[in-house]
Amino acid sequence: MASLPEAVAHAQLEWDTPLYRMAVAQFDHAVAHAAIPEDIAERLRYPERSIIVSVPVRMDAGKRVVFPGYRVQHSSILGPTKGGIRYDLEVTLGECAALAMWMTWKCALLRLPYGGAKGGVRCDPRTLSLGEVERLTRRFTSELLPFIGPQQDIPAPDMATNEQTMAWMMDTYSMQRGYAVPEIVTGKPISIGGSVFRHEATGAGVVMVVARACDRLGWPLAEQRCVVQGFGNVGGIAALELFERGATVVAVSDVSGGIHAAIGLDIHALQAYVRVHGSLEGCDAGRRITNDELLGLECDILVLAAREDQITAENAPNVRARMIAEGANGPTSLEADAILSQRGILVLPDILTNAGGVTVSYFEWVQDLGRLFWTRDEIRAKLAEKLSDAFDRVWEHADGRDVSLRTAALVAGIHEVSAALEARGIFP
Ligand code: GLU
Repeated sequence: MASLPEAVAHAQLEWDTPLYRMAVAQFDHAVAHAAIPEDIAERLRYPERSIIVSVPVRMDAGKRVVFPGYRVQHSSILGPTKGGIRYDLEVTLGECAALAMWMTWKCALLRLPYGGAKGGVRCDPRTLSLGEVERLTRRFTSELLPFIGPQQDIPAPDMATNEQTMAWMMDTYSMQRGYAVPEIVTGKPISIGGSVFRHEATGAGVVMVVARACDRLGWPLAEQRCVVQGFGNVGGIAALELFERGATVVAVSDVSGGIHAAIGLDIHALQAYVRVHGSLEGCDAGRRITNDELLGLECDILVLAAREDQITAENAPNVRARMIAEGANGPTSLEADAILSQRGILVLPDILTNAGGVTVSYFEWVQDLGRLFWTRDEIRAKLAEKLSDAFDRVWEHADGRDVSLRTAALVAGIHEVSAALEARGIFP
């Protein structure tokens, strides 16, 4: 397969945005170490399918508003595509394409029979009522009907979407089929075929990976001082797991800003506060700090669980953590990665560190297809086994070849996809 002709390559591709370029630059860097044929690499630089839809929603006040919606399916070589749906003002085709590509490497690294996808609707979810979000979700799902399916593309929660969103998606899809199809989405309520432990899986997985790294480094987890950026489904659970394992969580943050207490925060108390007040706004459990101050706090482990593009060339020199764990997707820019590595700060990369979510999504899908459900302990044990296996492969590869954990993780994922693509060949 030859590269795109000059004229085509130089035209702006629809998904070509800074985040997509970052995903491709990471890929290119890893490909240099992966020794895969260039025509295979070329195929994997592009998403297989990029869908743009318009989602008209009847608002509570009576008027109609049209929201742009997206779904990008990066690779179906290993199986159905898989990935979250986010509701956020920054959702674009390029953001979805970058995140879909990362999902491909993440699934392949974990040896899940999936390719990557990501989608979402550009909206401000905080200004929408529950009814508006439901109508938006149902119409978005309808627009995607020809492109999603249990053997085709399986959505899951991501930023600002949750179990309820997945229940509406599952119901909308099932009503069109005429029977219940729980395996169309993962991350749904347990009452309709969701899996126990899926809700906690991403945050708990982050801490499983951190613990594994600490073991390798000889750092007792219970003696570590941790900072967690983000207090939602990933950061909130990660902070709780760290706290319960005896680590000292000195600071956390959410959209309302950060909160810092050098002696350590009581994460159970903060969770209870957020359940009542909706966010950390007004919480006086510690000193209020800005997001920038939080990222610059001296600590052992900094967990990034907010969103992409948080550690950049500007603030990377100020990071005073010994280790960064990427709970979010793409939180560290390429330039920041280089600065952190020069400064000897270890980065546990997103496609490994936050893979607990999609791994338990896979368990949920398998349970739905088999109509046979496992216990929480079985799922936790299977997740720990999958993450440890991936962690060990990445660690040993990085150690043996003197590359970063990110490059090692990408190389492992790329190898799986590349081998399958070579075996299957290009159609026709
Ligand atoms: N949105 C999550 C992620 O980025 C989960 C995706 C899934 O479970 O399919 O990994």
